[in-house]
Amino acid sequence: MEEKPVKRFIAGAVCPKCAQMDRIVMYKKDGGDFRECVECGFNDELHIQPQVRELETRVNISKETIEAETQVLQFKPIAKNKDD
Ligand SMILES: [Zn+2]
Repeated sequence: MEEKPVKRFIAGAVCPKCAQMDRIVMYKKDGGDFRECVECGFNDELHIQPQVRELETRVNISKETIEAETQVLQFKPIAKNKDD
């Protein structure tokens, strides 16, 4: 069982620092995705947002909508006494 991070070359990727093509490798570390340039040593973390975040946002929006509708229901119609 190997636990070493597997570095894979990204075909056609251009290094943002030295502009060399096919020198970028991608690897996983500490649960995150990183890229590294084997030419100049440039490296940074790739921020890939999981799609679960979108679902949480939608749930929040739906909850706010439900609360707004609930508030509307709390308003009572103005009753006019026409019996007088
Ligand atoms: Zn580079």
